Amino acid sequence: MFSKEIASSSLALPTTIFIKYNEVMKEGFGDRIRRFVDNLGTPQKFGPGWTSESTQVAAGFESKKAIEKLKALATIDDLTGLENIRSFKERMEKAFISLYRVEKHRTNETPVISIAMGDIDNFKLINDAYGHPTGDRVLQAVAKVLKDGMRGDGNSAARYGGEEFVFGFIGLDEDKALKKIIERIREEIEKLQIRSDDGKIIPVTMSFGVTSTKNDAQTLDGAIRQADAALSKAKKTDGKNCAVLFSTTA
Ligand code: GH3
Ligand code: MG
Ligand code: MG
Repeated sequence: MFSKEIASSSLALPTTIFIKYNEVMKEGFGDRIRRFVDNLGTPQKFGPGWTSESTQVAAGFESKKAIEKLKALATIDDLTGLENIRSFKERMEKAFISLYRVEKHRTNETPVISIAMGDIDNFKLINDAYGHPTGDRVLQAVAKVLKDGMRGDGNSAARYGGEEFVFGFIGLDEDKALKKIIERIREEIEKLQIRSDDGKIIPVTMSFGVTSTKNDAQTLDGAIRQADAALSKAKKTDGKNCAVLFSTTA
């Protein structure tokens, strides 16, 4: 059990064994325990030093797990499992800064960053008709479509808040390709077959506003404002369930 390999593997070190061992040492049973472990085939480093080192490794393993948990809590939206807005903004702001830093030196090949905003249509009616928990299920099903649809290098989706989502695309410089991804996601959402508790299919659609750094937004917030303006047009002028590209002339 106490082989060298196991001793050197943090995964194989159950914290409780080493805490218990330390307690026993303190109480004066150390020699008995030491003899017992000696009989099992003691690794050379065994002794009080090894024990405290092992305890540290085990404790380190526990705190690594705790840190990973905290990290997930800080970056993932609880309900949908998508990236949260804070983490998305942090990441995309870095992309904007490096884009414009690069652009000073190299004007031809700068990657385009595109931002889209998506908002579920008439979501309040869904909540009103079927209840908040069913509304939550709709959000989760939509989020899954977004996550699946945004796979691919440089593409990401995050929950902006409520029933609004934000999308980032790095290096996709063709409006046509961008529109294709968004359109496909829009169609997938339209095709969802989410059922209410009494078995009815709930119609779900989503509207989108899209922009890119080709429209001169120098910051993430600027790009989000442009995407929002296009989304507003999708909602108010174009009858919802559609995607509108931001235009500086509109
Ligand atoms: P529009 O087509 O113009 O976007 O209309 P809408 O009804 O979708 O928009 P509105 O802003 O009027 O309503 C959004 C609703 O989303 C209101 C709010 O209660 C609901 N909502 C926000 N967050 C959550 C959530 O986490 N779960 C549920 N179930 N509902 C939420
Ligand atoms: Mg909204
Ligand atoms: Mg809405």
